[in-house]
Amino acid sequence: MAQQYAFFRGEFVPIEEANISIRTHAFNYGTGCFAGIRGYWNDEQQQLYLFRLADHFRRFLQSCRLLMIELPYSVQELCAITVEVARRQEAREDTYFRPLGYKSSEAISVRLHDLEGDFALFAVPFGRYIQSEEGARVTISSWRRLDDNTIPPRGKITGAYASSAIIKTEAMLNGYDEAIVLDQNGHISEGSAENVFIVRDGSLVTPPITENILEGITRRTMMELAHNELGIETVERPIDRTELYVCDEAFFCGTGVQMAAITEVDHRPVGDGNLGPVCSQLRTLYFDVVRGRVAKYRRWCTPVYAGRE
Ligand code: PMP
Repeated sequence: MAQQYAFFRGEFVPIEEANISIRTHAFNYGTGCFAGIRGYWNDEQQQLYLFRLADHFRRFLQSCRLLMIELPYSVQELCAITVEVARRQEAREDTYFRPLGYKSSEAISVRLHDLEGDFALFAVPFGRYIQSEEGARVTISSWRRLDDNTIPPRGKITGAYASSAIIKTEAMLNGYDEAIVLDQNGHISEGSAENVFIVRDGSLVTPPITENILEGITRRTMMELAHNELGIETVERPIDRTELYVCDEAFFCGTGVQMAAITEVDHRPVGDGNLGPVCSQLRTLYFDVVRGRVAKYRRWCTPVYAGRE
């Protein structure tokens, strides 16, 4: 494999040189936050498009605020660093970028204030996150979603992903592709690492941002594409568990999962148990948009290689 690079301690370095100390605060206490950004390779244009790069970094800086991590970089600078890592490793395939903001201090002390932080970023080739994107089998997790007053799900906080890992592993070891997680009130929040939508009576329905979800960028993308291109509106409201059993269609969306139709929940078929028309149209649209094939949405796609548009 070609040499991979990282941005680490203010410099671009080969990935092998980007290592932290065992004493790092974030490693000990989960006091880091991250983003996940996809780069989509467009073979016809010989171009790598980074999807909604600035939006990811705007949310990333909000996560940093939650953890009192102060970074010396603006959104524009963070975007430029990401493009440079992609260029250095000559990424010519679908690639996943992982920016991290973390408490780099080596102090033994459980707190956020007066501890230095740092920024790092690396990139890896990446394909599907869930194999069965056309028909995922899911379960309702026996675990509950974190609450805004515990570790706020609004931020992508590394420590919170121990909860996501517990949820995901339970689901997979029980033979499912993914889980849907209820919040402390018993309403649907999201998947272990993706937002969720259902289709009922011709509308999209998804939990509002006050229901302990991550404010997903793909979630916003789906709402906008459904409105603009399919004439389908999204209602943001709490969703009961059993609405999943009676809805017409359901799907996950997120940078990692992309767009995955949910065709079975707790052994019950969703709708007729097949990829439905709304999911199918949204999937096609989404993949055309992220690969930079739709001029109207090219503004969401940052090209890595200059002069090739
Ligand atoms: N919820 C959680 C818990 C996630 O980890 C992710 C992945 N970042 C998402 C939702 C989807 O967010 P986005 O569309 O911004 O990637």
